[in-house]
Amino acid sequence: MTRVILFGTDSMLRDDMTNPSTDRFLAMDGAISREKWEEDFADDAAAIQRLKKERNAVILAHNYQTPEIFLSVADIKGDSLALAREAQTLKEQVVVMAGVHFMAETVKLLNPEKTVLIPDLKAGCSLAEGITVENVRALKEAHPGVPVVTYVNSTVAVKAETDICCTSGNARKIVQSLGVPEVIMIPDENLARNIEKETGIKMYTWPAYCEVHREFTPAEIEDYRRKFAPVTVIAHPECSPEVVAASDMSGSTAEMLRYVAEKQPERVLLITECSMTRNLAALYPKTHFIGPCNFCPHMKRITLKKIRHALETLSPEVTIDPALQAPARRAVERMLQV
Ligand code: SF4
Repeated sequence: MTRVILFGTDSMLRDDMTNPSTDRFLAMDGAISREKWEEDFADDAAAIQRLKKERNAVILAHNYQTPEIFLSVADIKGDSLALAREAQTLKEQVVVMAGVHFMAETVKLLNPEKTVLIPDLKAGCSLAEGITVENVRALKEAHPGVPVVTYVNSTVAVKAETDICCTSGNARKIVQSLGVPEVIMIPDENLARNIEKETGIKMYTWPAYCEVHREFTPAEIEDYRRKFAPVTVIAHPECSPEVVAASDMSGSTAEMLRYVAEKQPERVLLITECSMTRNLAALYPKTHFIGPCNFCPHMKRITLKKIRHALETLSPEVTIDPALQAPARRAVERMLQV
């Protein structure tokens, strides 16, 4: 049976939903052994495919999801920007977010009438948890009149305090679209510093970090270059400016995917969460992926078993405080319009 992958402008992938999940295992060749697939995943994957039809459900998966989710049951895949865009066009009544909580909240903001499920309510994010509403208000008081750009890796309450949201894929464009010399950019200090360097726009920021990307160091990159040259190094902008400077280019996961799909380089080092590398390695076997394997513990809370349970019980469901719905949605929609 033919497997269809469409590359959209955001390098978002939309799979056809007709393939039995076991056939899709073939796409994971190299990522998971056939024995492991049959023993640990095949049964849940088949049940999920059946439940999606029964529940009129769709599964959105972030690029950091494990191969057995990303390549076997996910319908729409991509980075936060692609998932937020696609969330506006969903026809299905039930949406399962195979990602972390703030991503499910964004889908719910854009689709208040739909049932949005997150298979594990504890799937959080060190960035979203790194700043409070009070912190944002204090920054606004300290810098009156300066617009607030908030990374989507944030809670709905923080988004509601915000002028406009951004993702790592569109942060530069969003900041430049404001036409101002200074911006409050939260919560990711590294992203803000990297965008400040690229644009020359002064950033007031906050000391919150992605616990996965802050672990990478320039020394580590140099070590890989020494051992594996020539290698193209692409760093996620949640890494420190020093790590970005030690890389060949910086880009969101969608930009990484686009680069590998278009150039199919012989050897590449992706400075990002490990499942991204494993998923791309399964899709692009001609490219040799090297590098450390840093997992996001929050993303890894989502499993096939939990997705199955969410579809069986239609829970846990994501809800939004009605008082926050309008202002938070406005900040996300403003981003999508840019
Ligand atoms: S990888 Fe980092 S930014 Fe992404 S969900 Fe995990 S902690 Fe948050």
